[in-house]
Amino acid sequence: MSADDFVWLVTQAVFVAVFLDVSVKAVRQPRQASIDIALFFGAILAVIAISDIERLTGIAANLQTVSYVALSALPYLALRITDDLAAQQPWLMRLASGVLTVLIVAAVLVPQPWPLWFQLLPVLWFVIIGGHVTLEFLRRADRTSGVTARRMRAAAVGSALVGLVFVLAVVGVMLPVTTVAVSVLNRVLALAAGIAYFLAFAPPSVLRRAWQEPELRAFLGRAASLPRLPDIAAIRKELEAGAAAATGATAASIGLWDARRERLVYVTHSGELFESESPSLIGNRAFNEQRRLFSGNAARDDPDNAEVYRSREVGTVLAAPISAGDKRIGVLTVYASRAPIFADDDLRLVQLLADQAAVILESRALIDEASRVQAREEATRLKDDFLSAAAHDLRSPLTTLLLHAEMMKRGISSRPDAPPEERRIDAIVREGNRLKSLVGDFLDAARAERGNLLGRLERVDLVGLVRESADRLSTTRHPVRVEADDPVIGQFAADRVRQVVDNLIENAIKYSPDGGEVVARVRTDAAEGHIEVSDAGIGIPADDLAHLFDRFHRGTNVDDRRFQGLGLGLYICRAIVEDHGGRISAESTVGVGSTFRVALPLEPAEPATAEVDRAAPEPAEPAVEGPVVMAPDPAPRAADA
Ligand code: ADP
Repeated sequence: MSADDFVWLVTQAVFVAVFLDVSVKAVRQPRQASIDIALFFGAILAVIAISDIERLTGIAANLQTVSYVALSALPYLALRITDDLAAQQPWLMRLASGVLTVLIVAAVLVPQPWPLWFQLLPVLWFVIIGGHVTLEFLRRADRTSGVTARRMRAAAVGSALVGLVFVLAVVGVMLPVTTVAVSVLNRVLALAAGIAYFLAFAPPSVLRRAWQEPELRAFLGRAASLPRLPDIAAIRKELEAGAAAATGATAASIGLWDARRERLVYVTHSGELFESESPSLIGNRAFNEQRRLFSGNAARDDPDNAEVYRSREVGTVLAAPISAGDKRIGVLTVYASRAPIFADDDLRLVQLLADQAAVILESRALIDEASRVQAREEATRLKDDFLSAAAHDLRSPLTTLLLHAEMMKRGISSRPDAPPEERRIDAIVREGNRLKSLVGDFLDAARAERGNLLGRLERVDLVGLVRESADRLSTTRHPVRVEADDPVIGQFAADRVRQVVDNLIENAIKYSPDGGEVVARVRTDAAEGHIEVSDAGIGIPADDLAHLFDRFHRGTNVDDRRFQGLGLGLYICRAIVEDHGGRISAESTVGVGSTFRVALPLEPAEPATAEVDRAAPEPAEPAVEGPVVMAPDPAPRAADA
């Protein structure tokens, strides 16, 4: 067997193998693209087979028409395959089918033997189309990335080689003295063209994966550093570029879940925000159903959003949810204009990339949270330092000021001709006292932080103490009624417990702007004394209850201009109660009223020096009755605010 024969045999074997492979694929998945590819290789095989039969048997006439038709069909089929992978202009497709029809009709009608120019017509046509397709694929290869760019390049190589094969064939016919070398070269080229086409249009999955590998590796290599990019927008951009490159898609888009507005927000190619509540949008569906989805024809599968897809040149879509455990973060969609760009196992790759994106976005959220906590802690520390320094410095001049004002007041009231000034001095004393109580709160808050709020413990009757506060604070608009029977006696820091009771009654009055009775109840069980202060005031929103005892927290239903305050009172109350080894909790319904409950052990738990007994405040006991109940978190107070 000559070298020429051998090459020819191998070429034919390769074409037969490729034809069988693509035919099986076309039967299994009868899509436009797979059928076109099978037809293309079928036509090549037909031409080869007929030339063999001619060579071996010398019978030509009838088969020549078939060969002519198959040859004429090749450029048209090549264009169709190109169109499957990268859309072609419609006029070109129409022209190609027109030329094919003319050639077929001519093959049937023109009597044989055909003149040489007629025999060469399909070849010439193929050379023209082959040139066009080659350039087209090269252009597309530049605009795509990863596996798709590689497939486009293989297609360009295949088309160029086929063109060359035909040019050589024409040369062979024109110059009858062709050498064996030219013939061998031509067959080698034909073989190479066949392989290139096969790799481009029907690449085996092993090869696809190998072609995806470099971009995937590059992406995974960068992944570790992505959470540290300046912002989420930059991370998103990198993730999208990485996903598009790894899958060979035209582009990728990440939709992130906006929990506040309850919708997915995407960023378009041009950087604009895009959001849609349409449940049929493929990305939204993948997110809602928490499963990966493939659509070979997005506009057909989701006609409601056909315009959205068309305007973004989205033909085929792969979408996978981005989730970390139960937490739904968003969705990754990759898309291209034509379905054959993707293979079935690309959906798994997209899920893998989505999972990677979840890890990256979660790490970023943790980093953000950590720096927020750090900033908050730093701000709180600075505020604490400032407040406690300011409070210390304010206290002395304020005391002097108040002292003088009080003295002036006393002096003036004893002089019969003085009255006009008295009201102003009253105002100075009143506001001065308010300032003093604020400064006192700052200092107490700072002490609570350091854990030295309580003074000496002494024997105190809680009933007497509450009655005394009630009498002092009761007004006609806000009568304070006490419900108590027997004395409730225990070891307490009297002034501090009084401060708690005063604060609760004052709050009950302050937050009942329309007036109303305040009820203070005192009772005991074996080990504890219980104080309860109830009002029928504005109440506290459920979301605030959890933070009520935090530093500086004020209810969201409280307007600073109407209800003055700093949000320190309850924080100090909690510190005092817990330092006694007790508990404080609140129960409230907005618009109905609030009840604050304090439980204090009658005997101190540890040695009577409660000043040093700060270690472990007892965990708050969850209250059981009532509409909304919240006990303060027993976490260390320093972590508040
Ligand atoms: P302040 O009264 O200075 O704001 P507090 O620590 O005493 O600080 O109270 C914290 C917040 O708790 C208040 O701002 C208010 O929103 C809410 N609150 C406290 N007591 C009552 C009450 N009896 N009724 C309604 N809201 C209350």
